[in-house]
Amino acid sequence: MAVSLSVLFSFTLLFFHLLLAVQSDQGCHKTHNHHLRRSLQLRNSPEKCLRARPGEPFKIALFADLHFGEDAWTDWGPRQDVNSIRVMSAVLDAESPDFVIYLGDVITANNIPVANASSYWDQAISPTRTRGIPWASVFGNHDDAPFEWPLEWFSAPGIPQVRCPAANSSFSGEEECSFRGTHRLQLMKDEIEQNALSYSSNGPKDLWPSISNYVLQVSSPQDAQSPLVYLYFLDSGGGSYPEVISNAQAEWFRRQSEKINPDLSIPELIFWHIPSKAYSGVAPWFGVRKPCVGSINKEKVASQEAEFGIMGLLEKRPSVKAVFVGHNHGLDWCCPHKKLWLCFARHTGYGGYGSWARGARIIEVSKQPSSIKSWIRMENGNVHSEVLLSS
Ligand SMILES: [Zn+2]
Repeated sequence: MAVSLSVLFSFTLLFFHLLLAVQSDQGCHKTHNHHLRRSLQLRNSPEKCLRARPGEPFKIALFADLHFGEDAWTDWGPRQDVNSIRVMSAVLDAESPDFVIYLGDVITANNIPVANASSYWDQAISPTRTRGIPWASVFGNHDDAPFEWPLEWFSAPGIPQVRCPAANSSFSGEEECSFRGTHRLQLMKDEIEQNALSYSSNGPKDLWPSISNYVLQVSSPQDAQSPLVYLYFLDSGGGSYPEVISNAQAEWFRRQSEKINPDLSIPELIFWHIPSKAYSGVAPWFGVRKPCVGSINKEKVASQEAEFGIMGLLEKRPSVKAVFVGHNHGLDWCCPHKKLWLCFARHTGYGGYGSWARGARIIEVSKQPSSIKSWIRMENGNVHSEVLLSS
């Protein structure tokens, strides 16, 4: 009797999960609803829906290269994290975006000597969370690297007293010292499990070791079945494995895009951290001049190690309007490449190299008339480098 009761209970639970899953998928593409296991993992659903507000364009803020936890053992490091929170707060209050994308290098894991670096990750998403704005994140090359012991710690002054856990952390994870780094999977699991507003996903298992591979649909306000734009997120590697988008990821993109947008009628935007080699080909030589749009061009493009097919696929889809990357803190331009745009975000964090003024790239998707615009909002309120990416 006890057994059958528990079976009954399990089935009731399953039923409610299914009901929830179907409700949460309303307005999303239906192709995923029959994947029972995926539907049950509500927070990991490969296509969660976002809705634009009635009569308003859909606005996205990109926070790139925040580098929380830099020099975590000093007084300087934690001060930079406070500065980064100030930048994000200024941008969020000035722009009131509908959605935020954390474009990698959220933390500087190679500087973080704690068992669970999610405590720093959590600080980085806090300004967005406290304002009730949903977000998604992708990984950069610094997010899951193991701790790198500074060489000078082995000179006469010796190893400084390392602070564990993070001084201003409210995170309730493991809090002892550890130098192994926190893997992408753990960081993503923590973000997803602890945040109802997170739209991130740890992606299909067959794409491992790359994790942040998923698609989000933004629906128009009038009709949940009518997509306004698709947002594709890809993990460009680095840290615990090479800096590359694999052929398997490219194939995954091809399958997803052909399934959800077969007639290429819905615009598509692509987000990852490390610029592909194609960025080097379009980079302006000195300054930023037409047809590129931007304000700083202060370093060479630091591209991925190899190209295994993703760019060829993007170039063949006229629905793909732009790719957005971070990684190069001294670049903030958008340049045309074939039928699409290759864009850098703007260095948002006070962590990481470079002292160029901080800001964030904003993207605005409008339905009627159809257009995709972008500009850069600075910490001091200035706005510049507006560019029309699609009309
Ligand atoms: Zn980077």
